Amino acid sequence: MIAVVGAGIGGLVAGILCAAAGERVVVLERGPRAGGKAGVVTLDGVEVDTGPSVLTLPEVFDDVLRRAGRRLHDEVGLRRPDPATRYLFPGGVVLDVHPDPEATLEATRAALGDEAARELRAFLAHAASIWTHAAPPFVLGPAPTVGHVLSLGPRAWAGVGRIDALRTLAGTIDRRVRTPELRALLGRFATYNGSDLRRTPATMACIAHVELTLGIHGVEGGIHALVQALVRTLEALGGEVRTGCGVDRVLLGGGRARGVRTEAGEELAADAVVVNADVRHLADALLPPRTPHRLPRAEPSTSGWVGILRARRTADRVGHTVLFPERPYVEEFVDLFDRDRPPEEPTVYLCAQERCHGRRGWADHEPVFVMANTPAEPEDGPRDAALWTALEATVLRRLHHAGLAAEDDRIVWRRSPTGLAQAFPGTRGAIYGAASNDRFAAFRRPTNRLRTVPGVYLASGSAHPGGGLPLCALSGREAARALLDDRGLGLPAPR
Ligand SMILES: Cc1cc2nc3c(=O)[nH]c(=O)nc-3n(C[C@H](O)[C@H](O)[C@H](O)COP(=O)(O)OP(=O)(O)OC[C@H]3O[C@@H](n4cnc5c(N)ncnc54)[C@H](O)[C@@H]3O)c2cc1C
Repeated sequence: MIAVVGAGIGGLVAGILCAAAGERVVVLERGPRAGGKAGVVTLDGVEVDTGPSVLTLPEVFDDVLRRAGRRLHDEVGLRRPDPATRYLFPGGVVLDVHPDPEATLEATRAALGDEAARELRAFLAHAASIWTHAAPPFVLGPAPTVGHVLSLGPRAWAGVGRIDALRTLAGTIDRRVRTPELRALLGRFATYNGSDLRRTPATMACIAHVELTLGIHGVEGGIHALVQALVRTLEALGGEVRTGCGVDRVLLGGGRARGVRTEAGEELAADAVVVNADVRHLADALLPPRTPHRLPRAEPSTSGWVGILRARRTADRVGHTVLFPERPYVEEFVDLFDRDRPPEEPTVYLCAQERCHGRRGWADHEPVFVMANTPAEPEDGPRDAALWTALEATVLRRLHHAGLAAEDDRIVWRRSPTGLAQAFPGTRGAIYGAASNDRFAAFRRPTNRLRTVPGVYLASGSAHPGGGLPLCALSGREAARALLDDRGLGLPAPR
């Protein structure tokens, strides 16, 4: 039997692939339902997503489902609202991003001028080239090692040389883009893995390619519908998800994993354990004391304050909205990373869940997901709750001022970084695992096999290749690949 600790995306994907290879799989989830950070809450009869709102690279999920004999498009409906994202800049400048990149470039020309459109086209070509060269060795396959990259030979090194890893994202934007609005728009992609614009390698410009060229998707019925599709697939393969079933120990014997012990004291024997919980939770709580693990205590990615706005329904709302601050955008990173505090004037992100995901709201009101980036929680305990009350008031004031919320619209659900840290042990509220704040981050991220303890595998945003829905799915796939290779089975092929 394979025991999976946690029913987040990485755990479910690893479970599906092991079950598809013929293994018996039990997923043990401490929360009341599957999904982890991709969670939901029901508010006055209306279900809303409380975590991710943007799906990129859906083909990653299709690959997983095809290995289990299913197709993504048979399991969930994908949506592409147009416009996709409305960016609101200081001085009333508005730029809509569309599913068709040419339409985005045309909108850029109309909003910001010919030179801006030229800059964006050139930047996206650079970002596409980075993705082409960086994705295979750093994202789509097993965890990279310096030795492996060296073993690929001169042709591959030339490709790695093209991923702009020696500059920072801020540096490459400075060099290539003069238009202030575009600089903010492109710089914001550093936050899509919770990193610091001024330190994260320019390789992260590939996120601009993924978001603006490959494009973003909604999921019919909400992102949680994707979680349900994964659970359905796992169960159809004979796998089991036990919710409300926390694990407090990975059991070892003869130097390898032998099973898990639940918080209720039940011991389950298992041939291997896949850990979807954060690697810090594994290191600090799940492994028996003094077990060697070599899991790094890395700088966490950013966290976020999240609210659900019960907003009067209006015709002019778009799927996603990003409201930039009046002050220079880089100040947000100074607050988050240097001053270790929520931004004084936060960028506010909105997702209108009816428009994006075809969710149904209340009679006259729609659910709008609201988020502002914050630092992760300190290592030694939570911040003062008054900070989050103040941040909520600032966010609402900014929404009212920008005309994005009516005076009587209300935040009807909220979760602070402290809440995230409590819900996801070991994370300190960080959303994407470790920050990618230097060029060696990809090499330091834990691999999907815990080398010091045979039989333990890692599948989560805190392991290779990092956080975000598609990357966590890839983490699950790589954990399953390692586990099945070790058992002489191999990953099932896509059908
Ligand atoms: C507010 C927010 C917005 C986001 N927006 C986006 C977005 O738009 N697009 C995107 O791609 N990504 C986004 N993300 C990131 C994305 O949601 C995560 O990277 C991804 O869902 C994490 O998956 P995971 O596999 O790491 O598992 P997690 O979601 O971290 O789940 C781990 C699971 O393990 C369980 N667990 C932990 N410890 C134990 C234990 N001891 N016993 C049993 N179970 C345990 C937890 O309860 C949890 O269910 C967002 C995240 C948040 C929080």
